[in-house]
Amino acid sequence: MKRNTLIVLTGMLTVLLCAGQAARGTDFESYLSANKERFDRMREGMVKRQIEARGIHDPRLLKVMRDIPRHLFVPLHLQLKAYEDGPLEIGHDQTISQPYIVAFMTEALEIAPDDRVLEIGTGSGYQAAVLARLAAEVYTIEIVEPLYQQAKERLGQMDYRNISCKLGDGWKGWPEFAPFDKIMVTAAAAHVPEALVDQLKDGGRMILPVGEKSQNLIVGVKRGGRLITQEVLPVRFVPLVKGEAK
Ligand code: SAH
Repeated sequence: MKRNTLIVLTGMLTVLLCAGQAARGTDFESYLSANKERFDRMREGMVKRQIEARGIHDPRLLKVMRDIPRHLFVPLHLQLKAYEDGPLEIGHDQTISQPYIVAFMTEALEIAPDDRVLEIGTGSGYQAAVLARLAAEVYTIEIVEPLYQQAKERLGQMDYRNISCKLGDGWKGWPEFAPFDKIMVTAAAAHVPEALVDQLKDGGRMILPVGEKSQNLIVGVKRGGRLITQEVLPVRFVPLVKGEAK
């Protein structure tokens, strides 16, 4: 018992030291390439255990989640946690959603390859990257300036040419590029923002968390100018704040 504990502790320490040394000693690139296989294995485990095992079967979506390096969307000190089964802090009191929730919300939108999608709440840019691999164009809005700047730069470096980022208030949507085939909101609103319903195509789908203390994911389909909604899952998201970009 004691010996096993010691082995586990020594192993954990070695891992931490190696990761720390690689990150400090050489540059970031060599740290990433040294750990690539490890991240690949963790990502495979995430898809199998958290996503496939819970009933997400869309092969295009599973491939995208197997491909996108989620650890590059979180702060350096949290990279080893990037494939865990929960949300993670990304700074400014905001979070990147749990991998399963990203998969669930994306699948619920039934994205077609020629869709134009609006996302509210860019955050780390991870969800936008997932959408961009499935749809033709993604428009994403973030209200916190440093998060907007960082996500725009990150997505640019990763060569996502079909994502447009905007700094602004998601309650207003992005009328210049409306109407959208699909809309996803990744922060919780007290009610469905009307501007977003206006900017959704007839027959289009929208998914968003609604509520304050207790929240539910709502899937809506627009028919004859109205959004027909259905509650699909209890969730916990950061609030969709009102007001100008800060
Ligand atoms: N989709 C993100 C996670 C979103 S967290 C990802 O993949 O990482 C929710 C984000 O919504 C936060 O970054 C928060 O700053 C942003 N947000 C909150 N209110 C907003 C608003 N009114 N307009 C645009 N973005 C908003």
